[in-house]
Amino acid sequence: MATVITSECINCGACEPECPNTAIYQGGVEWQAPDGAMHPAISNDIFYIVPEKCTECVGFHDHEACAAVCPVDCCVPDPNIPETHDVLLARARALHPTEAIPDDAPSRFKKEGGGASVPAAKPSAEPKAAGRPAPAAVAAPAAAAPTATPPSAEAFGLAIPPPEEWEIPIRCFRCSGDYTVPFKYFRAGTVFYCPHCQGSFVPTLGVVRGVEDALARFHERWSSTFAEFHERRRRELEQFEDGQRRELERFEGELRGIATREKVPGAPVRRRGFFTF
Ligand code: SF4
Ligand code: SF4
Repeated sequence: MATVITSECINCGACEPECPNTAIYQGGVEWQAPDGAMHPAISNDIFYIVPEKCTECVGFHDHEACAAVCPVDCCVPDPNIPETHDVLLARARALHPTEAIPDDAPSRFKKEGGGASVPAAKPSAEPKAAGRPAPAAVAAPAAAAPTATPPSAEAFGLAIPPPEEWEIPIRCFRCSGDYTVPFKYFRAGTVFYCPHCQGSFVPTLGVVRGVEDALARFHERWSSTFAEFHERRRRELEQFEDGQRRELERFEGELRGIATREKVPGAPVRRRGFFTF
């Protein structure tokens, strides 16, 4: 079945340059048939796909490229136009007569799951060598004085940045290159570009919400784990201090006993009776 753009389209334009068949047009713009003939726009308000030119990306990708970049997931299979892999492959060859498209060309039909949408990637965000800001290596905790306040995550070298400062790792669906984009800019509809191949990537609402939720859950888990650890250490420290105090008192008593066991020369001797000497 051909791909169709639903009324949820926000006219961002991200899908148009991704189509290998130039099957996507802006609303109100005439579309051009392979023979050069011009035809009236199918939609005047939103982007549209010409079914006669759409191959569901068979021949070029193992997924629908437009669906992969659409930030609102409105490029969907058209159930009214069911088409087989062979039909779509033949169309791809007809649309690109000068290209040799082999029988084993990429096709969503060959992909397990039937061509589920895959996040695409486009150029833009500043590439960063590292992925997300991973917590630094664990440092040995400083020896805690009995009265010291519990060490913070920073003291352990395990500080993590606030959610908005995380770098979101992206793998380009075109070149498989890795890069990151700051989470504060990771919003649905924002077009990012792979620094390696200039492939586009447009986060969908679902992806952005998924990342948001994951970050929130991780921060909550991370913070509560540290809080529990600090509380446990505080209780252990109190128990240790109590034990040491008791040991100190016991030792002071022991010392007192040793010091008073022998009669000190010159100490007054208490008479036990009238005739006692
Ligand atoms: S599914 Fe592929 S061929 Fe069809 S409109 Fe989208 S990008 Fe173009
Ligand atoms: S990517 Fe999606 S929202 Fe943007 S123009 Fe294409 S169909 Fe519309």
